[in-house]
Amino acid sequence: MKRLSIGLRLTLWYLGVFAVAQIIFGVGMWFILRENLHDIADGALATEVEDVRRFLEGQRTDGTLADLQKTVTDEYSAETGGDYLQIVDGDGNWIYRSPALAEHNFPAISPSLLRKRIHKDALLGREPFRFVSQRIDVHGRAFTVQAGTSTDEEMGTLERFRVYLLMFAPGLLLAAGAVGYWMSRRALSPVDALTRTARTITGNTLSSRLEQLHTGDELQRLSDTLNEMLARIETAFTRVTEFTADASHELRTPISLIRTEAELALRRSRGDEEYREALRHILLEAERTTSLIEELLALARADSGRQSLNIQPIDMRGTLQEVASGWRAIASVRGVQFSERILDAELRVLGDAEALRRVVNILLDNAFKYTPAPGGMVTLSAEERDGNALISVHDSGMGISEEDQTRIFERFYRVDKARSRELGGAGLGLSIAQWIVQQHHGKIQVESTLGAGSIFRMALPLAAANVRKELLTR
Ligand code: ADP
Repeated sequence: MKRLSIGLRLTLWYLGVFAVAQIIFGVGMWFILRENLHDIADGALATEVEDVRRFLEGQRTDGTLADLQKTVTDEYSAETGGDYLQIVDGDGNWIYRSPALAEHNFPAISPSLLRKRIHKDALLGREPFRFVSQRIDVHGRAFTVQAGTSTDEEMGTLERFRVYLLMFAPGLLLAAGAVGYWMSRRALSPVDALTRTARTITGNTLSSRLEQLHTGDELQRLSDTLNEMLARIETAFTRVTEFTADASHELRTPISLIRTEAELALRRSRGDEEYREALRHILLEAERTTSLIEELLALARADSGRQSLNIQPIDMRGTLQEVASGWRAIASVRGVQFSERILDAELRVLGDAEALRRVVNILLDNAFKYTPAPGGMVTLSAEERDGNALISVHDSGMGISEEDQTRIFERFYRVDKARSRELGGAGLGLSIAQWIVQQHHGKIQVESTLGAGSIFRMALPLAAANVRKELLTR
């Protein structure tokens, strides 16, 4: 079942609460009005009883019952005030009974049974009446005075009040519903606007943002949060698009080189040596392409979070020595002086040996690539400092300008594109190195002077003492 909109639900709730409030108010007011009308009638009846008491007090005390009956009858049958009056004494003798009450045989109450004044609503014929029954004591004798007054008018007023209430209630309810609906629509209209804009946002329009609200409430927080989310998505999306574009671009160059080389070789028949030379070029480019694809894959896996490192306690010193021994031969072939300053103690870190080896290889590869031979110098050093294993690769090469130092860790960034490519780099090495170091909760930094050389420093947190102990006992 489709749920009603929030605006409609709010309106219905509002209507419900308003209707209940209206009923409570109407019924309450009706009772209050009735009480007030009763009070007015009761006041008049109390005066009438008081009047009877005063009249009886004014009579002789030695007269007979018949005398008393006669005087009271004379007095009250002449007056309109006695139309609905009856008086009875303690022995059950009627002192006075108006014809109207006699006709309806209005029940008498003995004064001995009356503790306090009793009020009662009753119908005489079809007319509504309000009665009071009260005991009065005069000259040592007890009487019950019962007086009534018509409440026809009061009942009419009450009835009219009820009709007005019933007449206006639906209208009021309708008006309240309309106002409630309008208010909820107004309060929720920014949500509609947000929805409309959000619907128009696609992969091509990720730079657009939802309407900025300045309401200072939940809706503003919602739109701000959604906009922040959009900004993050846009950044991630741009990164992916740029990465794809750059990757395709990088792949195109070696492939077209391979193609050109093959086309040239096939254009006319050549000697064995020429074919071999062409094939050597093709092989070199194919190798470069393979390593480029590997780098791209590594970064793509890192982005997707699928590249998981095999973190274990390792001795970094051993890893460094292994890597260094591989570079010694290359250094001598290139005519660059290579020295190692690796401390003579264990450097225990929690890490992926393979990945860390890759980082050191990237740094050394760069150092050798960008250091001219002969006379160039590359140093690999490792020490323990402030709870970190500090590994540095120092070269006396061409150096990096300050401006470039801030960008060399970006993907595909190369200071000198032509030169870097010639040396086999696509500008991915340092971004891969940075990703690996960050995964180890470490830091990688560069310090360089143009023309004088560079130092790349990587700091990896040393494994805690308890991990080391565990290692030793293995
Ligand atoms: P590449 O594979 O092109 O070397 P990197 O990401 O490893 O890519 O390095 C990015 C750029 O930083 C390089 O193209 C180069 O211009 C510069 N660079 C890196 N290391 C050094 C260094 N030791 N000396 C001078 N320039 C360097």
